[in-house]
Amino acid sequence: MTSKISAEPGNGTVLTHHGRDPVNQYGFVNPPVVRGSTVLFPDLETLQTRNQKFTYGRAGNPTTDAMEALVTELEGAHGTRLAPSGLAAIAVALQSVTKAGDDVLVSDSAYEPTRLFCNGVLSRFGVNVRYYDPRIGGRISDLIQDNTSAVFTESPGSLTFEVQDLPAIAAAAHERGAAVITDNTWATPLFHQPLKLGADIVLHAGTKMFIGHSDAMFGTVSANEEYWPALFQTHRQTGTCASPDDAYLAGRGMRTLHLRMAAHRDNALELATWLETEAGVTRVLHPALPSHPDHKLFKRDFSGSGSLFSIVLARRDDEALRAFFDELRLFGMGYSWGGYESLAIPVDPARARTATKWDANGQVIRLHIGHEDTDDLKADLAHALGRYLAK
Ligand SMILES: *Cc1c(COP(=O)(O)O)cnc(C)c1O
Repeated sequence: MTSKISAEPGNGTVLTHHGRDPVNQYGFVNPPVVRGSTVLFPDLETLQTRNQKFTYGRAGNPTTDAMEALVTELEGAHGTRLAPSGLAAIAVALQSVTKAGDDVLVSDSAYEPTRLFCNGVLSRFGVNVRYYDPRIGGRISDLIQDNTSAVFTESPGSLTFEVQDLPAIAAAAHERGAAVITDNTWATPLFHQPLKLGADIVLHAGTKMFIGHSDAMFGTVSANEEYWPALFQTHRQTGTCASPDDAYLAGRGMRTLHLRMAAHRDNALELATWLETEAGVTRVLHPALPSHPDHKLFKRDFSGSGSLFSIVLARRDDEALRAFFDELRLFGMGYSWGGYESLAIPVDPARARTATKWDANGQVIRLHIGHEDTDDLKADLAHALGRYLAK
């Protein structure tokens, strides 16, 4: 349903009014959860011509349609399909633009399971995978070969938060006919719209900010008009689909995405700014901080920042690390982020890099800042940092 309120409604209006159709939902505000495999046809002619909006459970239903419409609108895409996880969305995006004999360029700072899919599956099917410096910008043209069919970006990078020059990368890729795929999980379409900056396909680990409450796995993948047919067909041919219950939860999460993202942005930035002055913290890797090396690029291409950033502690010491984590009371320890509670995990960016060297010789900790009161979060971290330094 399209809002008639204004020609270009703001994100809050889109999130409130798109992706539901009360008139055709017996007046109920939210789309129904339609569970189903079999779709019945009223007569033989309709069955034979498939001249009916829904034909098979896997191909979509009113619940999944509503969520797709919402993401399509937010990303300015031609169309969106759903996936059972973010990684499944990554897989279908890469499969849609590659074939045996092709070459793919993947950012060295990409989410590690993206590498595992590329190295474990794509390469087994005859696709050559190479990794590149996330800060390469337009110089990526030196790496693009005649058989390069896709450039994969994720900005800012997982764990290390390098911002990529997407317009420059897209211009170089398009000059040689390669597709650009962007993992936009961190910023969400509210703060970053890759398709408008030159990407062809944009995907989300909907598990994180869209679901927003740590209670489901989910993914979305959207394309511009040029890449939509390939994405649509590959999604169909691989049997990728999301459960209607999870699509409903994602749609429910979307209704407050702008409110949650504003709170995540403000709390995370306040914590990051404070951590820059804390003893024992040598670096804060958050692109919205003026101290971040890619801050100018970030300001040019993003309208806000997410919940996730990393800090580097002065030294690496297993005993001190144990003291830090075992003293945390509010920060949970867990990998999947995007929910309402704050999280912290120790990470080792050097482990999953091949094109660039991670040279910060200190302990890196990735933080997700949730909706607790920031004074309480600061007290929790200050206490744990004190224990770290005392060891
Ligand atoms: C978590 C994450 C994924 C994978 O999502 P899942 O739903 O856990 O499969 C992909 N990209 C980024 C940036 C992530 O943080």
